[in-house]
Amino acid sequence: MSGKKILPFGDPILRKKARPIVRFDQELGKLLGDLANTLYAAEGRAGLAAPQIGVSKRVIVMDCGDGLIELINPRILETRGEQTGSEACLSFPGYSGVVKRANYVKIKTLTRNGEELLIEGEEFLARCIQHEMDHLDGVLYIDHIQDNELYDDQTGEKANLQEAVRRSKKP
Ligand code: ZN
Repeated sequence: MSGKKILPFGDPILRKKARPIVRFDQELGKLLGDLANTLYAAEGRAGLAAPQIGVSKRVIVMDCGDGLIELINPRILETRGEQTGSEACLSFPGYSGVVKRANYVKIKTLTRNGEELLIEGEEFLARCIQHEMDHLDGVLYIDHIQDNELYDDQTGEKANLQEAVRRSKKP
């Protein structure tokens, strides 16, 4: 079970709007398998979006503690409330930032067989869903950080947010 290479902030694919899935075939099954293997090979993992392994398609895998969730062409139907908490990204290892998110989300997604599914999430699951869905639109969590609250995980010191944002912009 080896994973694919995870692209780092600065790769232009991470800033592209991903394309929807139109065929629910073996290729999609392989992509979901690659994403799951890559997710579980990573330390401190919670979610991974297809653009992070170089595939600009609207596919996400997540495991926020209750098993694997696959999202295909997800859409947000409803959000409620607000939460403020620490967030990190497999494409930007070693850093975390304080990000405000909705506390509750309801989404409509498709299964790998193309069937519609409604998912509701609160707190950490809601945060995961919003973080990963942002990846499908080329948005990164550092875009949401207020008050410069980006931290270097090793030292616990504040990191240079402007530099991180500049490095992760479209070239
Ligand atoms: Zn991420």
